[in-house]
Amino acid sequence: MIKYNNEYNVDYDKPGFCALCHIIIADFDGFNPNMTPRIIRFHGTARQSYFKLSDGSRMAVMMCEGCLSGFAPEDVGPLMESVIRGWHWEVETLMGFWTDEKKKSHMRVYRKKEIVDRLPNGFSSKEITKVKKPRKNRLNVKDRTHRDLPRKPRRVR
Ligand SMILES: [Zn+2]
Repeated sequence: MIKYNNEYNVDYDKPGFCALCHIIIADFDGFNPNMTPRIIRFHGTARQSYFKLSDGSRMAVMMCEGCLSGFAPEDVGPLMESVIRGWHWEVETLMGFWTDEKKKSHMRVYRKKEIVDRLPNGFSSKEITKVKKPRKNRLNVKDRTHRDLPRKPRRVR
């Protein structure tokens, strides 16, 4: 059953998937041993976009053409929630060798990050009032996420 616009139940920011709507935006051939997609090439509809974060850093995010062209201030909260879930996923899988304490303290810092503006052309003063913070109850990746990923490499059309 397709629940999150892709067959892998990915509902967070992950290479090869749109960070906002989670459709697949790359051809990939199965998964690397660390469960990141083995990307062959990005689709022509994949777009990179940039945002300014509350810590002053610049964040690059891959989205599909539709999400980027229709991107509204209201999308900022859900996008950042997806990004934070992606960081959670990374910490739980790629950083599996970290202690639980280290994972927690890392995510305590990263969960607080917020998008404050779009780059290079920032939101208007009216738009900025519609920018919302990520909702706390949307920041966790559920364990099912990596269980549901296929064990065998699969080719995506
Ligand atoms: Zn999208």
